[in-house]
Amino acid sequence: MSRRLPVIPPGRPAPLTGAFVPRELPPRPGRLEQQLAALWTPRIRARLLQPRHWGDALHLRRHYDLQELHPNELMLDYRTGKLPDCEACVNVCCTGAHRVVLLRLVDVAALVDAGLEEFLTLDKPVFPAEETAANPALGDLVRSEAWRRMPVLRQDATRTCTLLREDNRCGAWPAWPLSCARFPYSLDILHMRVFFARSCGSVQQAPTREGRRREARLVDAVVDAYNQRTRDAVLLRVARPELEALGLARFIRWD
Ligand code: SF4
Ligand code: SF4
Repeated sequence: MSRRLPVIPPGRPAPLTGAFVPRELPPRPGRLEQQLAALWTPRIRARLLQPRHWGDALHLRRHYDLQELHPNELMLDYRTGKLPDCEACVNVCCTGAHRVVLLRLVDVAALVDAGLEEFLTLDKPVFPAEETAANPALGDLVRSEAWRRMPVLRQDATRTCTLLREDNRCGAWPAWPLSCARFPYSLDILHMRVFFARSCGSVQQAPTREGRRREARLVDAVVDAYNQRTRDAVLLRVARPELEALGLARFIRWD
């Protein structure tokens, strides 16, 4: 069953649920995250109109919808109040090569602000062709420009995120990457729908007021993750000097 998004409470609170449920409100964005957000101006975007960026503009239009997505445009393709029950879950979703976390620029900035840059790496798992052929979403990911250029969260020898703590809590909180903040809610952009990933190991139904709030935050994070990926694609093409000035260029593969 599909339906429209419920009314989202005013403001745009950071997502509060996903892999591990934190109890406290997140702080305001750090300095680098704010500086990165300030880069996203009409003036920067207008660079795509300059002759030297016409090739970039063509590429971006071919591969991205440059219009920002809004939560109200999406159909919600799951039962209202369906939420991950991380406290009861035995299938910790922070482990496995397929679950390596690909970062957005905003994630990198937040992790640097939090003093966690040692957990970033450009070394990514390599998947055999038959694996990507059998898993179209994985195939799309590894063929993407974001996969080629952006860092991931470092995994250990067991392919577990190195930010996962001994007590199974997330060591990145509150600098949570958007991919973690939205999970298990996922976007099917072709059909403009949000669905609940089948790989999530523990589900609860919470059609309460608080449950609806968490649901809205998760949907917000889905949309944010999509929009930030588009922003990244533009910034990587037109704002390299500014990213270098912010110290973010060193986390990106440019060749
Ligand atoms: S699989 Fe689902 S319930 Fe389990 S830790 Fe991950 S998000 Fe939470
Ligand atoms: S940052 Fe790592 S430990 Fe935290 S939720 Fe994401 S994958 Fe799990």
